[in-house]
Amino acid sequence: MSFQIAIDGPAGAGKSTIAKEIAKRLGWIYADTGAMYRAMALYCIRNGISAENESDIESALKNIDISIAYNDDGQQVILNGENVNAFIRTGQVSAMTSSISAYPAVREKLLGLQRQLAREHNVVMDGRDIGTCVLPDATLKVYLTASAFERARRRYEEYRQKGTDSDISLIEKEIIERDEKDMNRKIAPLKRAEDAEFIDSSDMSIEEVVETVIGLFRDKTRSAR
Ligand code: C5P
Repeated sequence: MSFQIAIDGPAGAGKSTIAKEIAKRLGWIYADTGAMYRAMALYCIRNGISAENESDIESALKNIDISIAYNDDGQQVILNGENVNAFIRTGQVSAMTSSISAYPAVREKLLGLQRQLAREHNVVMDGRDIGTCVLPDATLKVYLTASAFERARRRYEEYRQKGTDSDISLIEKEIIERDEKDMNRKIAPLKRAEDAEFIDSSDMSIEEVVETVIGLFRDKTRSAR
């Protein structure tokens, strides 16, 4: 039997930082489902497929093969044999991802891969619909959020450290727009699962969030014994 920690929440809540650290401490794998959707979006951008054209996107799906691999830098997304990790974190890809991930066929395509990972490994998986759709029986579900301003501030800081100049109010606007799309789509919208633990990390350090989640996981598995 494998264990699963599902972490959902809006953009920039710190899900991936937290999930990566928890996976490292527990010796599990980290599955970044957003990166899988981003690779699909990259394919559409590279092939000039418009986000509005659902039927074009649906027919492109048969030409897209997404898999993942792990190396010292963590999860790598492989799109048709090419490691695309270096290309999927741009603003253009974020916006495209949020549009195409509203289509049922796109989600269907990734569901099998995500569930297979969880069957075969102990996993910390993050995304938008992990606790509600992908892993409804996850050992622990967490809904991680923070204020929009704090999420934008963290993104801004990330960019700054990479030497990229950016505009914090623009980042905040993009984050809010993406959340609205993700929360209001018909299929697999971002929402807190009824049985998910709610964590607002606005005033918490990474270490505090990691400790809280690991503590919740230990409590769950202890009480299940
Ligand atoms: O987590 P990340 O910011 O990389 O996700 C990019 C986009 O992928 C999200 O804004 C959302 O539209 C989509 N996504 C999703 N379901 C997931 C993970 C991501 O729809 N489980």
